[in-house]
Amino acid sequence: KRIAKRDFSVKAQVFSNDEIGILANSFNDMTAELSNNIQKRIQADQDLESKTNFIQENEKRIVGIMDALIKTTQLDFSEKLSVSDRGDELDAIAVGLNTMSEELEFHLQQLKQSEEKLNDAQRLAKIGNWEMDIATNKVQWSNEMFNVYGYGNERFEVSFEKAMERMLPEDIERTKARMEKNIEEAIKIFKEKGTLEFESTPSTFTLVLPDDSRKVVQGIGKIILNTNGQVTKMVGTVQDIDEQHKAEKKLSETAEQMQTIIHNAPNAVIIINAQGAIINWNSKAEQFFGWKADEVLDKPMHEIIMPPRYQEAHHKGFKHFLRTGEGPILDKTLELSALRKNNEEFPIDLRISATKLESKPIFIAFINDITARKQQETAIRENVLELERKNKEIEQFAYAASHDLQEPLRSISNFSKLLAKKLEKYHDKEINEYMNLVSGGANRMSNLIFDLLEYSRIGKDMAKRETDCDKLVHEILTDLAAIIEESGAEIHVKKLPVIKCYDLKSVFQNLILNAIKFKKKGISPVVNISASDTGKEFLFTIKDNGIGIEKEYYDRIFIIFQRLHLRTEYVGTGIGLSLSKKIIELHGGKIWVESEFGKGSTFNFTIPKS
Ligand code: ADP
Repeated sequence: KRIAKRDFSVKAQVFSNDEIGILANSFNDMTAELSNNIQKRIQADQDLESKTNFIQENEKRIVGIMDALIKTTQLDFSEKLSVSDRGDELDAIAVGLNTMSEELEFHLQQLKQSEEKLNDAQRLAKIGNWEMDIATNKVQWSNEMFNVYGYGNERFEVSFEKAMERMLPEDIERTKARMEKNIEEAIKIFKEKGTLEFESTPSTFTLVLPDDSRKVVQGIGKIILNTNGQVTKMVGTVQDIDEQHKAEKKLSETAEQMQTIIHNAPNAVIIINAQGAIINWNSKAEQFFGWKADEVLDKPMHEIIMPPRYQEAHHKGFKHFLRTGEGPILDKTLELSALRKNNEEFPIDLRISATKLESKPIFIAFINDITARKQQETAIRENVLELERKNKEIEQFAYAASHDLQEPLRSISNFSKLLAKKLEKYHDKEINEYMNLVSGGANRMSNLIFDLLEYSRIGKDMAKRETDCDKLVHEILTDLAAIIEESGAEIHVKKLPVIKCYDLKSVFQNLILNAIKFKKKGISPVVNISASDTGKEFLFTIKDNGIGIEKEYYDRIFIIFQRLHLRTEYVGTGIGLSLSKKIIELHGGKIWVESEFGKGSTFNFTIPKS
């Protein structure tokens, strides 16, 4: 009963070796066996259960791994697989998958970064790239391609046709033809060398942007073949070179203009490089030197234009300048002797400026043929000498004449006085009048000749002396006291300097006398005499309140014997100012008048200090 209730602990008691004892033993063996078997079955059941659990768990792990794998292929690395402590194959796979996904994530990150960098680089360089799959006819554009084509942030499916649409009709034809030629070339090269890539030379074309504006771009393409020599892909870049193109165009226009200007320059313009070799030779240079540009280009300038005896010195000077930056060659006009192709020497002036061309130093020589100028200078110098000689002759003649005339004039004067006396007894009014005219004329002539003599004597045996002008003027005023008093003149003298000069007495005297003499009727003369130091010279001023001088006569009054008035109005011979001028000019100074007609005159003169 108890065994039926699965109590196997029960044992039948064995009391004897008889049949009952044997039965009891057998019974006990049987229960033991039974209990054993039942135990085994329970164990087996338990084993089965844990195995099922195990399989189920593993199934879950595998699903997890599959999930993770699928997510990884979708580039989702968010989930990490858990690893059990079993250390079995699935754990190994989980660890492997986790590491792989981490690595993938890292590389993807890097890829993203480099893609961003590439985008940045493309944006900065304004380079877009494209890719065309020949089999599917699909075209891919990078971000910057859309920008280059003027689409900004707009995105759409690109096709070969769509890309072509934006080109000028003539560019479309050209580009298509080029592409075909390139493909032929790529295949040819593949056949010859087995090369799988063929890169085209850059070509420049114009895009018509969606807003109808134009843009110049440069494209480079690459043809990619498979190992069977079939074209599979074409890739390429398109770069926006519009600004560059415009700048280059402008630069080349400017350069062309410069070239024209240089070519037509009124002087020879020779450009040399830092080695002294000629890199530009304009038409005037051809004309001056007789060499055509293509005969002299690249040759050292000094060997072409310098007479042999100067060549070495010139070359050394230039080299010294290049080494040290010193020397007389830059921005100074040098007068030199130059050589024409026909070996004729001629004078030039040469001025060299330094500048840079494509960041290399160049030197521009501006050259004038100064043959004519030199001839003129010689002629002028000769004329001046001739003039000086003639002037001297005239002075000598005036001196001699006035000196020699004095004697006979004195005779005329004396004898006419004697004759007048003899004729007095006739009491003839007309005779008296004539005789007065004769002696008056003789007197005046004597005065003129005296003045002329004075004038021509100026400069002879004169020496400069320290002169106290203040003292000198006051002496003159003392000499003129009677005249001053008679005219009622008021004379103001500011402190005058001590200067080194020839005798200035007649200058001051003439100017003061004129200032008193040419007074306005009924108005007493007021004369101001002053001086100032201008640094290099002394400026003297004699100012009056007299009749003044009309502008048109400012120069004439300084000419000998030139007067603006009749003798009867104002006495004088017209020599004072010319005499003064001659003395002032002997000092290297100047004399001039400023006046307002009717309101007085100011006479100025300068005496240079050295
Ligand atoms: P002169 O005084 O003997 O006539 P100058 O050579 O001194 O000769 O002067 C020439 C002329 O210049 C004078 O005749 C006069 O017409 C004019 N002149 C000179 N000084 C003055 C002055 N201070 N005011 C007005 N006219 C003057």
